[in-house]
Amino acid sequence: MLARLEQLFQNAKTRLGAAEDLEDLNQLRVKMLGRKGEITLLLRGLKDLQAEERARVGKRANEIKAQLEGLIQERAEELQQSQLEKRLKEETIDVTLPGVPLPRGSKHPLTRINEEILQIFTGMGFSVAEGPEVELDYYNFEALNIPKDHSARDMQDSFYIDEDVLLRTHTSPVQVRTMEKMAPRLPVKIVVPGKVYRRDDDATHSPMFQQVEGLLIDRHITFADLKGTLMLFAQEMFGYNVRVRFRPSFFPFTEPSAEMDISCVMCGGSGCRVCSHTGWLEILGSGMVHPNVLRYGGYDPEQVTGFAFGMGVERIAMLKYGINDLRLFFDNDYRFLRQF
Ligand SMILES: [Zn+2]
Repeated sequence: MLARLEQLFQNAKTRLGAAEDLEDLNQLRVKMLGRKGEITLLLRGLKDLQAEERARVGKRANEIKAQLEGLIQERAEELQQSQLEKRLKEETIDVTLPGVPLPRGSKHPLTRINEEILQIFTGMGFSVAEGPEVELDYYNFEALNIPKDHSARDMQDSFYIDEDVLLRTHTSPVQVRTMEKMAPRLPVKIVVPGKVYRRDDDATHSPMFQQVEGLLIDRHITFADLKGTLMLFAQEMFGYNVRVRFRPSFFPFTEPSAEMDISCVMCGGSGCRVCSHTGWLEILGSGMVHPNVLRYGGYDPEQVTGFAFGMGVERIAMLKYGINDLRLFFDNDYRFLRQF
């Protein structure tokens, strides 16, 4: 039996040298040492031997099995190494081939304009504040001097969650929320970007749109500060040739209130279809903060004054890029979006 074992070992060593790849090696291992391998089968006869003989053969068998495992492992490493060398010799990489370009995305035009607006105002020392889109009636209307039966609510019909909770119709609630947190510290100097919701849907109105709101409260703030700040904004946004004008208007939360127009960016003021031949384009609403709103926010209107303004981001983007249909912003048409 011992002789037979040695013979199997010799055979295995010969076949080991002839193995050409890892698959050959694996087959060899199974054939010799596997559950039905030749050595395994032979060793089943051990139990028929006498004790002394059994110990001798068993010892040698274990040596052979260990050696064989070691040899197979060695040969496997050799084969791996030579395969690698072969690949390195055969495969060459042409470093002059052009790479596969990754398609490059771009920011949505509204994101761009939003960032640009915020950048202009933070450059003037305003900080950015945010608030919830699902808002209490109190902050959206009441604390902004729009009581329950006020007719101004008709212009801002919203989506109600329940009687006291709604999707905010403007970013102005953040004015009062910020004042409550800050009072009585001065100055309050914030810009507020965000989505707002109204029950409107046509070529120039969308049920969801974006606003940027601004608020400055301090001692001795006058309408001149409002005009200077917003004129600088218009020039930074639309170019230093742009002219501005203020028209009297009405908002419940400001007094006095004004709309700001800029000279038409399409025709330069001579009159065209975009400006309805007036030469002017309305871009934002503004005014001096109403004393009631200051009180709701925790400030004394005898001690401080302030101004506020609000603009639609879509409106600014349409004027800046010459886009005539608001819905293009929300269609996600790749041909439109890739132009920015
Ligand atoms: Zn025009």
